[in-house]
Amino acid sequence: MTTAAETEFPLKDWVPETRTLLLGGREVEPAGETWDVYNPATEGVIATVGGASLDQVDAAVSAAREAFPAWSALSGEERSRYIHRFADVLEKAADRLLPSIVNEVGTPVALAEYLQVKMAVDEHLRWAAEAAKTDRTIHLGEYDKPVPTMSDVVYEPVGVVAAITGYNYPLNLAIFKFGAALAAGCTVVLLPSPRTPLTTLFLGDLIREAGLPPGVMNVVIGGADVGQRLSSHPGVDRVSFTGSDCVGAKIMEQAAANLAGVTLELGGKSPNIVLPGVDVQKIAVEMHLRWSRNGGQGCAALARLLVHEAVYDEFLEAGASAFDQMVVGDPWDRATNIGPMIRPDHQGRVRGFIEDSVAEGGKKLLEVTKPLPDKGWYVNPVLLGGLSPDSRAVQEEIFGPVAVILPFKDTEEAIRLANDTPYGLAANVWCDDPVEARRVAEKIRAGTVWINGGGAMRPDAPFGGYGKSGIGRELGEWGMREYLEVKHIQWRI
Ligand code: NAD
Repeated sequence: MTTAAETEFPLKDWVPETRTLLLGGREVEPAGETWDVYNPATEGVIATVGGASLDQVDAAVSAAREAFPAWSALSGEERSRYIHRFADVLEKAADRLLPSIVNEVGTPVALAEYLQVKMAVDEHLRWAAEAAKTDRTIHLGEYDKPVPTMSDVVYEPVGVVAAITGYNYPLNLAIFKFGAALAAGCTVVLLPSPRTPLTTLFLGDLIREAGLPPGVMNVVIGGADVGQRLSSHPGVDRVSFTGSDCVGAKIMEQAAANLAGVTLELGGKSPNIVLPGVDVQKIAVEMHLRWSRNGGQGCAALARLLVHEAVYDEFLEAGASAFDQMVVGDPWDRATNIGPMIRPDHQGRVRGFIEDSVAEGGKKLLEVTKPLPDKGWYVNPVLLGGLSPDSRAVQEEIFGPVAVILPFKDTEEAIRLANDTPYGLAANVWCDDPVEARRVAEKIRAGTVWINGGGAMRPDAPFGGYGKSGIGRELGEWGMREYLEVKHIQWRI
């Protein structure tokens, strides 16, 4: 019998066939380590992929270097046309990008469809294509000491960018980097996570189809050794990395060998604050369905719930209905909102947080208890309470469907708790009074603060973190600046 998913997505079992690296516009057989790629929902191997040898990493960087003078010399209009054409090709390939992402990451299809494919291309890549046209020259005018001069400040592309991405959103994370880098006039070597390389390998085909000049975008595959070679390569001018803070610290050290700049988009432990007076009946379901999105495998998952003590019990009661609405299971079922964890070791790590928290006196205040599918690295969502603010589950990024809740007595305590982790990626404040909401938002040390939910990553607004959540920003003009050098030109008059 044909399922609803098979009717709606005829290509649902499709997996990219490309196994070649893209070096200087040529498809090259990989000569490095091989990697099995799993479907985390079926636990089956869906592909075996070869990684780049270290020589092939060098070749990718050389190809990007060779392509840089011509690409950077194009006008913004010309680069914009190339990027729009690339976006057209990606849009046409949406029916294949979708199964590629769902089958290698396990992202629920509705989320993958919007966030990974539609939003990433329509909103973010198109925005970057338009930003390529911006004239950023600043005319400073006259200065008369020690002699009269005039000055301009101009922005120029930094050069070759190593773009290294984490596993959870392979298409978005890549687009956030290469969109801005290409628009700025840089050339790129793209390295995805070896756990989810298929979408990026497929991007290699689409790069060729879009007719980007050879070497402007290159694709390599590999693990830590390949990442290390790439980020410490003397031919790389900037490393843009999305992943964990531990690897981010290594990247910084590796890039320091050449004093290359780094943009680091790292993890978070984002607070979700419910201030007094808020109608928790209205917000509880949205809050829970939001933090558990993609099984909590999101850097900005708002999974540290800080709730005013006066509404704490009511909030828990209202949240029960959200847990009833959570469907854990087959990512191809449109009703599913929580898919599997990426690998069994990550599933074990997430479960370890739950077990350790209970062992240290924490309680499962809400949980989904329905049986899980026989196959797939699933974890049933849990809300943990009764934990001390310095416990591991409250301080560390879990990256799974596990939230923690802490009550607070007054708003100043909420602010203190919100800022009480080493991270600072995002936050949300629920508050009925706009002036108070704004005051609290300004006290929170995080790169993005949403007020009353509903927030998304706008292509024209910066995204990035304070503290261990990273260095630099992606998106918007701030993201563009990561790929631009600034030059002062001064002339005597
Ligand atoms: P990870 O840090 O394990 O790996 C990320 C990438 O780094 C992989 O491609 C990996 O091969 C590569 N790598 C590993 N060692 C390296 C080395 N020594 N040198 C160079 N590269 C190396 O991250 P992950 O598990 O794939 O992704 C999850 C993490 O990413 C979470 O912490 C999450 O919060 C974070 N993340 C952040 C953002 C953001 O925008 N701030 C977005 C998505 C994910």
